[in-house]
Amino acid sequence: MPEQPRNEPILGYAPGSPERESIMEEIDRQMSEILEIPCIVNGEEVFTGVTMQQVIPHNHGHILANVHLAGKEEIESACLSAVKAQQSWIDIGLDARCQIFEKCADLLAGEWRAKVNASTMLNQSKTVFQAEIDSACELIDFWRFNCHYARGFHDDFQPLVSPPGVVNSTEIRPLEGFVLSITPFNFTSIAGNLPSAPAIVGCTSVWKPSRNSYYSNYFLMRLMMEAGLPPGVINFLPGSGAEITGTALSNPDFAGLHFTGSTATFQGLWQEIGRALPNLNSYPRIVGETGGKDFIVAHPDCDRRGLVVALLRGAFEYQGQKCSAASRAYVPKSVWSEISDELIDEIGSISMGDARDLTNFMTAVIDKRAFDKISGYIDRATKRDTCEVVCGGGYDDSVGYFIQPTIILTQDPNSESMIEEIFGPVLTVYLYEDDDFEEVLKICDEASPYALTGSIFSSSEKNIQKAFEALRFTAGNFYINDKPTGAVVAQQPFGGARASGTNDKAGGPLNLLRWISPRSIKRTLETPHDWKYQFMQSD
Ligand code: NAD
Repeated sequence: MPEQPRNEPILGYAPGSPERESIMEEIDRQMSEILEIPCIVNGEEVFTGVTMQQVIPHNHGHILANVHLAGKEEIESACLSAVKAQQSWIDIGLDARCQIFEKCADLLAGEWRAKVNASTMLNQSKTVFQAEIDSACELIDFWRFNCHYARGFHDDFQPLVSPPGVVNSTEIRPLEGFVLSITPFNFTSIAGNLPSAPAIVGCTSVWKPSRNSYYSNYFLMRLMMEAGLPPGVINFLPGSGAEITGTALSNPDFAGLHFTGSTATFQGLWQEIGRALPNLNSYPRIVGETGGKDFIVAHPDCDRRGLVVALLRGAFEYQGQKCSAASRAYVPKSVWSEISDELIDEIGSISMGDARDLTNFMTAVIDKRAFDKISGYIDRATKRDTCEVVCGGGYDDSVGYFIQPTIILTQDPNSESMIEEIFGPVLTVYLYEDDDFEEVLKICDEASPYALTGSIFSSSEKNIQKAFEALRFTAGNFYINDKPTGAVVAQQPFGGARASGTNDKAGGPLNLLRWISPRSIKRTLETPHDWKYQFMQSD
């Protein structure tokens, strides 16, 4: 068994560091050209001529690329290529497949790091640190640990018993057919992981990236090809989700969906798969990690400063566009009266602007649609009697889609911004009487349909335990005295249940198991030659 991988170290980008110099050079280089991004089907570039522009969210007048969108012909051809590529992909074996993805990890850790990080900073408006932990470290970890886990399966799943004259074994087969991987804009690492995790165990994939991350995702596709990914194993299809899904599901070889994105999109896809089922060759596996309404519950005995930092980082890093972002907090009145001035002052000092200016803590939200949706929540809260915007609340999309970090105080624990996913830099805080801790745990559990991440802040083991038990099903990733974001591969496998997904824990062995369909094999060494059993003999 090869040695267990280690998490990729996070580079600091301090002034004067080599990584800072190379990322700034790469950003300038990428901004100096407009890329033509093709579909990639069976390893071939396809320039369809039907294009959309990819712009920088914090500077939407700047065009990064013209992206060629897939039509029906490319989609059908991608599905066919994936099916055709599977046999030889299985034949090369697990070890050779892992070597390709380990090479991907090495390239990303080395010469591709600045390219992929710069493309993520420009395409998805991430600060250098947010890009580094996402598009470099997390994806390197996904690739290395998934290969490690997959190598462990063969031995783990061998039958326990082979009686004399019999040899039992289990073949770890992949699903038969192709996996449709539909990926979100907000993590380049997830975009890379969703098609490649099933590929490691022998599946092939049709990959539909988000229209808001075609640019950075195309860099990943090129990286995987440079690492030796054979044609057809992963087919890169920018284009309409509805068209790609419609065509993929009409192909009987559709074998699975690997999805990350919003709850509404996933629920629609699940229903479509149900309707397509009679025409499919097998029961498809459906894996989806979806929305969140992630919480922080503070107890009156909590560490005040720790809570301030967790609220600020948890809610506003990457403009709150993390599925795990803290977007609702339950804070005792006594604690709020002690921390509110400090929290609001510090949020007021947050710098926001261009991702190229490394002194910024925040940049823009992803697009006009997100900008309108988020500012709509702020506007409605401003008008509601039970809500008060105590910090931020401003927005401006003249140059980029900028929204100030905003806190809404509410007297209603069921107000819309307290229970719906906003996916922006908006934190809603419900203040409770200090004696109502247990009641507030119940409210937290029942208020929202989501169950992705959440935190408890308390200095007492008894209160932590109460929250641990009361919130057992309220979060798939539960944090104690920490912000609810920043899960690390192989440390806190990530995912939630209820409306937050199928909780198959991306970056862990449980996820990989969804893409295998084992075959049990019995070899008889002494084949019976007499059909009569012993009990049939006369006395
Ligand atoms: P989204 O649902 O808008 O899009 C996700 C993907 O689905 C995109 O590729 C999109 O093009 C595609 N899509 C949209 N409509 C489709 C349709 N009708 N048919 C087929 N495909 C379709 O989500 P997003 O805005 O890209 O990402 C943000 C969402 O993702 C948030 O809800 C966030 O919580 C969630 N998310 C969850 C996790 C997790 O691990 N739970 C991680 C990251 C993001």
